[in-house]
Amino acid sequence: MSWIIGAVCAIAVSAAAYWKRSLSLSGMAAAAVMGTVYFGAGNLFWFGILLLFFISSSAFSKLKASRKQEAEKSYAKSGTRDAGQVLANGGLGMAACIGNALWPHPGWAMFFIGAMASVTADTWATEWGSLSRKPPRSILSGQRIAPGTSGGVSLLGSFAALAGAVIIGGAAWLLALWSGLEGYTELPLLGWIIIGGLSGFAGAMLDSYMGATLQSMYRCTVCGRSVEVPKHCGENTVPLRGWGWMNNDMVNMISSLAAGIIALALGSWLL
Ligand SMILES: [Zn+2]
Repeated sequence: MSWIIGAVCAIAVSAAAYWKRSLSLSGMAAAAVMGTVYFGAGNLFWFGILLLFFISSSAFSKLKASRKQEAEKSYAKSGTRDAGQVLANGGLGMAACIGNALWPHPGWAMFFIGAMASVTADTWATEWGSLSRKPPRSILSGQRIAPGTSGGVSLLGSFAALAGAVIIGGAAWLLALWSGLEGYTELPLLGWIIIGGLSGFAGAMLDSYMGATLQSMYRCTVCGRSVEVPKHCGENTVPLRGWGWMNNDMVNMISSLAAGIIALALGSWLL
């Protein structure tokens, strides 16, 4: 029964997101499958966190959309998320959800909160940070870089990262109470906030650091800008730095994996 409820809810939300152009066709399919698993193999705790991440991120990406358009030309991808992005953000959470269904243990939920706090923090930071009036600074050199460039940090973006991570921790507390998550209802709100806030913020910073170092960057031979896309201004770009396979999705997933492990460690220490 929970699989059917999950499927109905997941398809409704994904279709609405496709309609709003927050998801591409492949993104919609991936999100529908993912939501179904989160509810079917999990429960409201898992599904609610996914929904909070998804709805807040989609809403923030619509903020001042015109000002973001310029920056988005240099992103690997636009505000319309495809299957790769959906999996990079929610794939680890889905794995933890399935793991918990097969071998129930509270550690899965802790790992999950860290992973989701990280992707939420990172997305909020990107969306709010791009609204900053001053261009971001490189996390490595501290020099001003073009808005939207991976590896850039701003005060507004960092604040957004912390806010997103803390919100996921707070929501986890509420959803754990609602769904009667065994073994976790005794963890107080502050505990959840510390776990979500610290792991998520650390994940977002790692994401920026990897974005400035390992992530593949290219230079456009026409306009001369550093971009994350293999094609710009209608021409092929040339490699600038980073590892070829280390794209934005890969950086996202590795950071959320690290955040999940941090949350797991914090959770076992606090409980
Ligand atoms: Zn160009």
